[in-house]
Amino acid sequence: MKPAPFDYLAPESIADAVAALSEYGGQAKILAGGQSLIPMLAFRIARPAALIDLGRVPGLTGIRFEGDSIAIGAMTTHRSVELNEELNGRCPMVADALAVLGHVAIRNVGTVGGSLAHADPAAEWPALALALDASMAVAGPHGERSVPIADFLTGWMTTALLPEEVLVGVEFLLPPAGTGSAFLEVARRHGDFALAGAAVALGIEDGLVSHVRIALLGVGMTAVRANEAEDLLAGREPTLEAFDTAADAIGPSIQPLDDQQGTADYKRHLSRVLTIRALRIAQQRATDGANG
Ligand SMILES: Cc1cc2nc3c(=O)[nH]c(=O)nc-3n(C[C@H](O)[C@H](O)[C@H](O)COP(=O)(O)OP(=O)(O)OC[C@H]3O[C@@H](n4cnc5c(N)ncnc54)[C@H](O)[C@@H]3O)c2cc1C
Repeated sequence: MKPAPFDYLAPESIADAVAALSEYGGQAKILAGGQSLIPMLAFRIARPAALIDLGRVPGLTGIRFEGDSIAIGAMTTHRSVELNEELNGRCPMVADALAVLGHVAIRNVGTVGGSLAHADPAAEWPALALALDASMAVAGPHGERSVPIADFLTGWMTTALLPEEVLVGVEFLLPPAGTGSAFLEVARRHGDFALAGAAVALGIEDGLVSHVRIALLGVGMTAVRANEAEDLLAGREPTLEAFDTAADAIGPSIQPLDDQQGTADYKRHLSRVLTIRALRIAQQRATDGANG
């Protein structure tokens, strides 16, 4: 099938992109890497009146470091983040996750902002952003605002972005020193969206858990933080028994769906097992001194 007709605009500034979105009154769509949007157009799942291509807007690509603070431009490709040695040396769960996001050809074109704005509950970026306590930098007609990821993900493939707003980047602090991190998922085939996955950061100080973040994908309408499991681990000794007890709290706290990929019970099981395994890898990395 071919897409329905649409206007095409290629603004050269964020302000012009916002103005174009406002002009179409909610009927236009931002075009980033097109890896999700173009198939949706082809199947006529999306029929926007206009596509507003961000490809010519300067300043939306790249990874900026300022001490422990990191800002990634919305149009930065998955692949350039995956290959960023400094980020991945300090926070290896990011490269773990991006190595299993689709295939290299998709990662060369698909963007960080596109993935977060698309907000697929089985996508890697929303879970990573939750595990990193990231904030979304959003530009609209009244200027910029910052939205914590937990408030940004509002429902199934739905975000807090207003129709006339552009996601310009994602910002987060690296996990504290002494933290290890890891990401694991299970997909039916390499490159497929995950059935379930876990992004984990684990900090250990004086033999006790000083920082813990567990974010899950594929287990509900949005990626979610496993708050109960985190609470059970905070301040405890990071033993396998403690990981097991914490992971037991995950099943009742998530609402995975039965679908053609797997049953809800299977996804609950995966979430528990992947969390334990990711915690063990993160613990090892923390112990080995692989920061982040
Ligand atoms: C075969 C295949 C396998 C894939 N597997 C995976 C996978 O395993 N995991 C995964 O996470 N993804 C996967 N993807 C999707 C891929 O990651 C996309 O790159 C991503 O979902 C969307 O990024 P994009 O830059 O291509 O955005 P686009 O497709 O251009 O846009 C997606 C949506 O986000 C909106 N949007 C984009 N950028 C912005 C912005 N800056 N501000 C506001 N709105 C914006 C668009 O309007 C559109 O609604 C796969 C894609 C394919 C084709």
